[in-house]
Amino acid sequence: MRQTINTDCIFCKIAAGEFGTEFLYESPEIVAFRDIHPKAPTHILIIPRRHIPKVSDLTEEDEKLIGRMITVANILAEQEGLRERGFRLIFNCGRESGQEVFHLHLHLLGGRLFNWPPG
Ligand code: AMP
Repeated sequence: MRQTINTDCIFCKIAAGEFGTEFLYESPEIVAFRDIHPKAPTHILIIPRRHIPKVSDLTEEDEKLIGRMITVANILAEQEGLRERGFRLIFNCGRESGQEVFHLHLHLLGGRLFNWPPG
């Protein structure tokens, strides 16, 4: 049985409502909230409530969860007026990717032009 909550994890605490963070979306499995240091006019983090450290810890059992996270990103992108303009979705995974918070999160970024390849 995999661990569901890590009491030392900031995103577990946010998902549990410990800081009163405003959720732009919430369900029994997923919450979404604005990044505290936004890198674009829209910068939202979509996370599972369950503590999964990173993408490479996912299993086939999580495929529905990940699909739902993408659906939530589309819902929020629409709400933010980004559907036609476009937006970027990012999962950082592990040290060299720049992942800082080891609780799975999908970045939804939009409202400006992005470069490719990313830095
Ligand atoms: P990553 O580099 O992919 O691990 O991204 C972690 C993101 O979490 C960064 O963009 C941070 O600004 C953001 N972040 C860290 N702490 C908080 C917090 N308490 N509330 C909202 N966003 C946070």
